[in-house]
Amino acid sequence: MAVLHNLQFARLTDQLGRVADLPATTIALQQQQRLRRLIDHARQHSAFYRRRFSGLPDELTLQQIPPTTKDELREHFDDVVTDRRIRRRDLERFVGDERNLGQWYLGQYAVCHTSGSQGPPLLIVQDRQCLRIILATMAARGRPGPKPGIREGLRRIWKPTRVAAIAFRRGFYPSGMTLEFTQDALWPFARISRFSSIQPDLIERLNELQPNVISGYASVLEGLAIQASDLRLGSLEYITNSSEQLSQRAKFRIESAFQVPVVNHYGTGECLQLADGCPLCGDMHVNADWAILEVVDDDYRPVPAGQVGSRVLITNLANMTQPFIRYEVTDRVALRAEGAGCPNPLPRIERIDGREAELFWVRDGDRDRFLSGILFHSAADSLHVIREWRAVQRSRNEIRIEVVLLPGTSLSSKTLEEQLTRRLYDIGLPRSVSLQVGIVDQLLPDPRTGKMRRMVTELDRSGHTAGATEIERAPAAT
Ligand SMILES: [Zn+2]
Repeated sequence: MAVLHNLQFARLTDQLGRVADLPATTIALQQQQRLRRLIDHARQHSAFYRRRFSGLPDELTLQQIPPTTKDELREHFDDVVTDRRIRRRDLERFVGDERNLGQWYLGQYAVCHTSGSQGPPLLIVQDRQCLRIILATMAARGRPGPKPGIREGLRRIWKPTRVAAIAFRRGFYPSGMTLEFTQDALWPFARISRFSSIQPDLIERLNELQPNVISGYASVLEGLAIQASDLRLGSLEYITNSSEQLSQRAKFRIESAFQVPVVNHYGTGECLQLADGCPLCGDMHVNADWAILEVVDDDYRPVPAGQVGSRVLITNLANMTQPFIRYEVTDRVALRAEGAGCPNPLPRIERIDGREAELFWVRDGDRDRFLSGILFHSAADSLHVIREWRAVQRSRNEIRIEVVLLPGTSLSSKTLEEQLTRRLYDIGLPRSVSLQVGIVDQLLPDPRTGKMRRMVTELDRSGHTAGATEIERAPAAT
């Protein structure tokens, strides 16, 4: 059985990798067929979408469908999913038990929840085929070097790619969940070694492994780039950013430090296969055969290519279990106007504003350590009472966390401080960092971007007040 799955995966990767040979009309046709299949399936098997589509014509176009929001999909979760056996309460129990990591829910579904970087988390359910499409798209498109194919496949079986996957920790967050199933899917072409971004011997272990590929969050990669002089990675071929948005400045910094390309990846937990960085033109291309990205304004009107919209609507053509159709995400994206420049016919993303790496530098004993925002996301998510939070680095090893609680939650500041502090120290925050936690009524977004900035610091790596850190000064992904 396993071998059959791997053959199917290899075939899919091969097909997806040949996209540059396809005319744009073929991709548009695939998109339309898959959209129709998704709409029909949702109409038949999801009570939520049946209600949503009632009164609309049978032959629906995408633009006739009203957008959906995270709050709606969370509130009506049991009605949204197309398999009646899936129940939110049941799933909450499933993700509440870490022993279920790497296990298929009901024997057939991979489960995760969004990180909470855009409001309270939403549970996400995907079947094997959906997960296979996510992984195969990344393997086929999100990398430089030889195209996948039989010859490359055989070469990889002989000499599997050594991948260092640096995650913060195991967990049910989207990229963490994907990683749980990656080794099985990529066998026998790649060997995945997993590291934690907070393990003290990370540099030594990477030097030992001599990876061909490093995959990690933008903030982790930036942290590694600053320590590049300690790394001896002679076999490194490329680096992939698996989560968080990478600014052009940060990308340039990482590429200069390691002398290999950095391939960016843009997805949300709700549609992980949304877009992959292109080794040919350097932009990201929307994987339009398996996802639809609409850039729109506040009134959901389409925004022309070259202009930044106020939000995007995402349609995931691979997830038949929990349909995301015109799902609203407040990312500010500009598509690139049509034109020459890349043989890959998939639509290109010119820029994504407002998502920036989240990183603090602290002192731990006699060394500088970086703290990725993922640490704080994970601690906040794990308490299940936090709606919004913001961490402010006030001095080198002093952090204040401001928290807005979910409605209906009653918790004293003192209890919250105890719980959050214990959680953070448990999952790797150095004891040398002192914490203060306060409950506030609301947190306002950054007026420049309209986005919630969760990690605020005015200190640079050496602990000096820089007015603004290099990360803050860097333009958002342009
Ligand atoms: Zn390209």
